[in-house]
Amino acid sequence: MDLAKTRVVIVGAGQAGGRAAEALRAAGHVGPITLIGEEAHLPYERPQLSKSILLDREPNPAFIRTQNDWAELDVTLSTSSRVVAADIDRREIGLANGRAFAFDQLLLATGTHPRRMPEVESGALPVSYLRCMDDALALRRALQPGKNVVLVGGGVIGLEVASAAVARGCNVVVLEKAATLLPQAGSPALSRFAQELHVAKGAKIMCGVSVKRATVGAIELEDGTLIPADMVLVGIGVEASVDLAHQLGLTTLHGIKVDTSGATAIDGVHAAGDVAEQWSRCHDRWMRLENWANAQNQAIATAKNMAGEATAYEAPPWFWSDQYDSNIQIVGHPGGGEEIVRGDVAGGRFTTLSIRDNEVVGGIAVNSARDMSVLRRLVASRKAVCRSDLENPNFELKRSLAS
Ligand SMILES: Cc1cc2nc3c(=O)[nH]c(=O)nc-3n(C[C@H](O)[C@H](O)[C@H](O)COP(=O)(O)OP(=O)(O)OC[C@H]3O[C@@H](n4cnc5c(N)ncnc54)[C@H](O)[C@@H]3O)c2cc1C
Repeated sequence: MDLAKTRVVIVGAGQAGGRAAEALRAAGHVGPITLIGEEAHLPYERPQLSKSILLDREPNPAFIRTQNDWAELDVTLSTSSRVVAADIDRREIGLANGRAFAFDQLLLATGTHPRRMPEVESGALPVSYLRCMDDALALRRALQPGKNVVLVGGGVIGLEVASAAVARGCNVVVLEKAATLLPQAGSPALSRFAQELHVAKGAKIMCGVSVKRATVGAIELEDGTLIPADMVLVGIGVEASVDLAHQLGLTTLHGIKVDTSGATAIDGVHAAGDVAEQWSRCHDRWMRLENWANAQNQAIATAKNMAGEATAYEAPPWFWSDQYDSNIQIVGHPGGGEEIVRGDVAGGRFTTLSIRDNEVVGGIAVNSARDMSVLRRLVASRKAVCRSDLENPNFELKRSLAS
């Protein structure tokens, strides 16, 4: 089969789906490409949803292309279209209204959806989640000065919304079940920094607490404490959207398992972005990578393979977060080894390196973007490093790249 001439259907018109469609054409795919998404919007990038969309005078979404540009690329874009059926024998997917699309190659780029918290969904308080543009626009309207805003979850989403809510004059309380903020990062230095940053800006941080339920005007904790609340935003992680994968006969644990070419266990079926489960050398396990860089680059690599251009994608995960005026960047697995901290955590400018078997398997740069470019190269190259050099504050980090 000439792969470049096949009928490609992409389900999920988010960042991964959109970038894959573009990359297919760039790689010379001449067959029909149909990009199907359930949202009413053109494909867009999500990082702004918890940042500038909440903060700027006017919301300015980061659309990948205009409607005309999609047409010029000869990509058939179908928005407001939820795919509900997938049949591998007929090689066909179907919408709720009965419309069917035949494919030779299928790309699942269905992303994730927020993990819900039924115990607060009693109706006593407005409860929201943040995943899509409509969520962000509604949240923007709700964040009014003087409002008591409770964020359940002290991960990236909770803390980015906390910064926006503080900036908009709300009274903010963050509730985190773990003993520290940002527990997923696995870095004591970062957790300490985040705690001090948010408290200094005026948010109240409560770690090691469990939410029991929502009552009128408050969130009740398991120990009976009442936290005044006018609204609640729950940010306790996401789950992969894998219903269609199951219908096709794929089994999933956390996401859709793919190899370095983006291929699943079914011939002609690929997966990209947040929904794809890949082998992470830094973490030494299969996992989904929920970040912008993966949605962009793993999707592009997958598209090249679908067009017949063999390409392996193996980049270490890289993520950033903006909170108040601080920029946090994370590469690899910061909790995967022993942590070395360079710089000044209290002063808000520092870098961590996680060392396992003389290799850097992860690191964090807070307000130190230049160090991050070195960290990314160290993690990707698997170079042996000298621990005592890295512990020496006078040793220039970039010298560790020299062979
Ligand atoms: C609020 C927020 C802030 C973020 N900030 C950062 C950041 O600062 N830095 C960073 O690196 N990453 C950040 N991310 C993560 C990054 O945006 C995601 O990793 C990226 O969006 C994943 O892209 P995707 O295309 O795989 O999935 P998604 O963007 O989730 O797109 C999947 C699309 O598929 C659609 N879909 C699902 N099922 C179906 C179906 N059956 N039929 C039709 N359509 C369907 C969904 O509606 C969705 O539009 C953030 C994410 C969020 C939500």
